[in-house]
Amino acid sequence: MALEMRDRCERCTTAALPADAPARICSYECTFCVPCAEAMHDVCPNCGGELVPRPRRTG
Ligand SMILES: [Zn+2]
Ligand SMILES: [Zn+2]
Repeated sequence: MALEMRDRCERCTTAALPADAPARICSYECTFCVPCAEAMHDVCPNCGGELVPRPRRTG
């Protein structure tokens, strides 16, 4: 399974989120920066899913 690595926060749209940067995603791969995720109490505003730390791309 390959996660699509989105490179921008969907909420503030200004924070660049490169693959090796900390970010939060929901199960539908909505992607947010950490400050936005915390501001939303780790709940995705799009689908209501839980936001979890995005796995970092390694290698
Ligand atoms: Zn953000
Ligand atoms: Zn979502």
